[in-house]
Amino acid sequence: DEEEEDNPPSSTVADGNTTTATTSSSILTETSFESLGVCPPLVEACHKLGWKNATRIQETVLPEALQGRDIIGLAETGSGKTGAFCLPVLQRLLENPIRGAVFAVLLAPTRELAFQIHQVVEGLGQSMGATSVCVVGGVPMTQQAIALGRNPHIVVATPGRLLDHLTNTKGFHLRKLQYLVLDEADRMLSLDFEQELNEILQVIPEDRRTLLFSATMTSKVQKLQRACLKDPVKVEVSTKFQTPQQLLQSYLFIPAKYKDCYLTYLINEHAGQSILVFGATCNNVQRLALMLRNLGFPAICLHGQMTQPKRLGALHKFTSGARSILICTDVASRGLDIPQVDVVINFDLPGHGKDYIHRVGRTARAGKSGKAIAMVTQYDVEVYQRLEGLLGKKLPEYKLDEETVLVLLERVNEAQRLATRELKEQLAASKQSGRRKRRSEDDPEEAIQQEIKKGYMGGSGGRGGALPNQRGSGRQSKKYKHKK
Ligand code: AMP
Repeated sequence: DEEEEDNPPSSTVADGNTTTATTSSSILTETSFESLGVCPPLVEACHKLGWKNATRIQETVLPEALQGRDIIGLAETGSGKTGAFCLPVLQRLLENPIRGAVFAVLLAPTRELAFQIHQVVEGLGQSMGATSVCVVGGVPMTQQAIALGRNPHIVVATPGRLLDHLTNTKGFHLRKLQYLVLDEADRMLSLDFEQELNEILQVIPEDRRTLLFSATMTSKVQKLQRACLKDPVKVEVSTKFQTPQQLLQSYLFIPAKYKDCYLTYLINEHAGQSILVFGATCNNVQRLALMLRNLGFPAICLHGQMTQPKRLGALHKFTSGARSILICTDVASRGLDIPQVDVVINFDLPGHGKDYIHRVGRTARAGKSGKAIAMVTQYDVEVYQRLEGLLGKKLPEYKLDEETVLVLLERVNEAQRLATRELKEQLAASKQSGRRKRRSEDDPEEAIQQEIKKGYMGGSGGRGGALPNQRGSGRQSKKYKHKK
């Protein structure tokens, strides 16, 4: 394993009416929040969250944003950008409290990210009496309409649901809005929220402050920037796409048919640590969680076909430490604030290199160290080479002895068979109750057959489990630990 090379040195460049402050090196700085102009009650709130000094993005954004400048921030995942935009909003609210109207709207692309931002707003704002509401899909409109009727200072929302309320909730408006924050703007635009954003921009005052954050500067983000920012300060924490600096990355080249077996080995090798595993499809993610549980590992899954309460429940189990292994699709790869993930395993490589950066961004956050392992089969070579191209370097190989891994094969095969059967039963049950979306690619039989073809079943699964009563087999209660 090898460490990331250092970033280029810091510099500040004036570019027309945009000032670019390019900063680098480690995420945490020696700079106190006081010295950046943050007021004492908010400094105290930061300390309560365990934030002693500012992160690099906070150090650069806060002095400008506290002066009331618009900001465009290109920030690395896990850089502390949420604090960088929440603090100026809260400080201005303290200085200029308004009553009876929404003061700030904070928009995020996903429900999970909105919930997290809301948590930070509450953590920082509660002691000063700031009120906030989180308005996202998947939760009844009425409940949210009542909360909005109480005139919260801050609304954290996904664009679609906010627009829904603007259109349908009587009395709700943003005519006195003073702050608009757009977080993960690139992601919002790639999720086709452009229309909603434009409609929201139509009904808010032009005379307001706007803070726009994005992981990448795409042409769509540039267009949005021109439409909604005035004389912004541009802040970049790195000039090119980079993975966090304390991250140890490696790849593992393996035959596809033993993929599950290698995953089991890696999980067992890192037993006791918090592990995030990324899979490509909802079904596969669910199947892997079932398989690992059958082997006695505390695994839980998170994917887009789960209901919102189930997603939050799974996340809570993981963040609270009740389950140390989270198997997820890319739903979870952006924006989720999962503290102290020790290891990220890319079971299926992402199609886009940028998604890789976001996935591994779940570890090595805020200056902590972490590990990322990419599982590469004979079918993934091209995708992997493109990924290395994007990273601009070759990753070291994760060394292990195949014979030691294959000792696990028999038990993994058995766990796979049980998992496949459980998955079929679960999918059939949910299909019957009509909850599943009816898209052809989601057909459970077809999905399982495809996975079998790909070799995920280790050559022996898919013909139906031979063991009855899999849940009561007692196997999953025993923690499996491979003998070295
Ligand atoms: P974010 O990029 O906003 O999602 O933040 C990433 C992580 O860094 C979160 O767990 C934050 O709680 C944490 N964090 C943010 N600011 C600081 C700070 N100044 N000091 C220490 N940790 C921080």
